[in-house]
Amino acid sequence: MESSMTDTPVLIVGGGPAGSALAIELGWRGVPCTVLEQGDGTVDHPRLGIILSRTMEFARRWGIADRIYNCGFNNDYELNVVYCTSMAGHLLGRDENPSCNAMQPPPQSPVKRQRCPQMWFNPILEKAAREYDTVDFKHFHKLESFEDRGDHVLATCLNTQTGETVRIRTQYMVGCDGAASGVRSQLGIDMLGKPVLSYSMNIFIRAPGLAALHDKGEAERYIFVRPGGTWANLTVVDGRDLWRITIIGNETMMNLEEFDAQSVVRQCMGTDDLEFEIISSIPWRRTELTAEHFRKGRVFLAGDAAHTMSPTGGHGMSTGVADAADLGWKLDAILNGWGTDGLLDAYEIERRPIAAMVAAASAENFRAWTSVPDSDRVLDVGPEGDACRQAVGEHMKRAGRADWDSLGLQLGYRYDDSPLCVADGTPVPQLDVLDYQQTARPGSRAPHAWLEDGRSTLDLFGRGFTLMRFSSTVPVSPLIDAAQEQNVPLTLVDIANEEIASLYERKLVLVRPDGFVAWRDDALPTDAPSLIEIVRGAHVHATA
Ligand SMILES: Cc1cc2nc3c(=O)[nH]c(=O)nc-3n(C[C@H](O)[C@H](O)[C@H](O)COP(=O)(O)OP(=O)(O)OC[C@H]3O[C@@H](n4cnc5c(N)ncnc54)[C@H](O)[C@@H]3O)c2cc1C
Repeated sequence: MESSMTDTPVLIVGGGPAGSALAIELGWRGVPCTVLEQGDGTVDHPRLGIILSRTMEFARRWGIADRIYNCGFNNDYELNVVYCTSMAGHLLGRDENPSCNAMQPPPQSPVKRQRCPQMWFNPILEKAAREYDTVDFKHFHKLESFEDRGDHVLATCLNTQTGETVRIRTQYMVGCDGAASGVRSQLGIDMLGKPVLSYSMNIFIRAPGLAALHDKGEAERYIFVRPGGTWANLTVVDGRDLWRITIIGNETMMNLEEFDAQSVVRQCMGTDDLEFEIISSIPWRRTELTAEHFRKGRVFLAGDAAHTMSPTGGHGMSTGVADAADLGWKLDAILNGWGTDGLLDAYEIERRPIAAMVAAASAENFRAWTSVPDSDRVLDVGPEGDACRQAVGEHMKRAGRADWDSLGLQLGYRYDDSPLCVADGTPVPQLDVLDYQQTARPGSRAPHAWLEDGRSTLDLFGRGFTLMRFSSTVPVSPLIDAAQEQNVPLTLVDIANEEIASLYERKLVLVRPDGFVAWRDDALPTDAPSLIEIVRGAHVHATA
């Protein structure tokens, strides 16, 4: 079959959530890109379902938050967490959480989290990416190999429908090709961490009669405990008929041919009375891994290609979307001539520690709800059984909290040691997974507050740098001139609001295109041009 050659500034390998998010981010910035996706975009077996707050903040910036809120999930369905021995068995404990409709955004964010199963989430992102004329999203295109030639990357891919070989010349390539990333393998980059936290099996079922079968009430997740500990959970998929069971097993269970999914579903139900259809079963390994490097030459890794983690907490995809948001503005900067190569090095410096931290927190969540103290009598009838059930229920409620309630981790991750941010001498705050205290300390997500016109402060950020000025008499022209000199896009925004001024704590705050604070003070530094040099990555090699 003939081969053809095309050019693109950025080649994204993989059209899953991370690849699509990067395509949207680049499309939103007007940077042309090509996405290669080997499949047809259909998700047969939904893994992700929780879209956490930071991802919803990016979705708001991209104008697609409402599409996610209205994805089709039953937003009246209550998202409680139930601990029990089986659906028909004993109730051990319960955490009350509202439905998506009843939930309010937390005070620290203009948006709230949402449930949106992957078979709907991926197409929402892909459609949003395709709406940009500058995004060329190709299905049935499989990357086969690539060569980093120093001044460009030459990628070879196969159109699996036509058999044609397509060669693509690109300035930068990003491997968003998932946990088994071929891009990562070809780069020779290792994954560091824990390759097995557990062996698991997912069973995706349709069971319209499930709600009527039990007395446990609606829940986002039912966690099953038996003598010996936690062994499985049932997770809501669409809030109606679709559910996913995950069982924690061992290596032998990974053999699909010997796996008796019907029997496992019945054990979870605690009865044979439910009619259900098994749609699919997939074995998977729960890991805590981070790639040793996120960049090699002109090639980058993002999403599961760069980090894999236990789904406990629902952070996996969101961490990949945050990679995309971080890398997107940096690629924009370099392709538009105002960023330096150091900016691209800062991608790994900023994102790698965050990925490792979130993966560790997710593993801790898994350990917490699988380390049940003593559940041997959990099925017993009588007072000893009751006492055991109460103790296990109380433990599970305590242990599970960080899994369901992690705003501090979702919004509080920070680039404290970034060479693109200027420390202001204030002490490094402790990151609290549960509780999120907003701060405008450099390296942190710039705080949300509502403006008089109904917008959020977060709506001010994105296109370039934003210089927030809380006292209109403070001179800023040297910084604006220095930015212009280097073609760095910078917008001055005057804010006359004392509450927001006290949240930001300084008269001048420079916010990056990704909404993170780069610098703050009450007056400009004497050498304003050097601040511009720092934020455009010119000193990264010197400081990293
Ligand atoms: C049970 C479970 C539940 C989860 N729940 C959540 C949750 O609630 N919230 C959350 O945030 N995360 C969750 N996750 C994690 C989440 O599913 C992943 O982090 C996310 O799907 C990763 O997205 P990605 O785009 O990086 O990779 P993937 O989704 O794996 O996408 C990679 C894409 O690359 C394509 N590809 C691969 N190789 C090539 C090639 N050579 N050429 C072209 N295309 C290629 C693949 O076809 C695929 O479409 C869960 C994970 C599991 C296992």
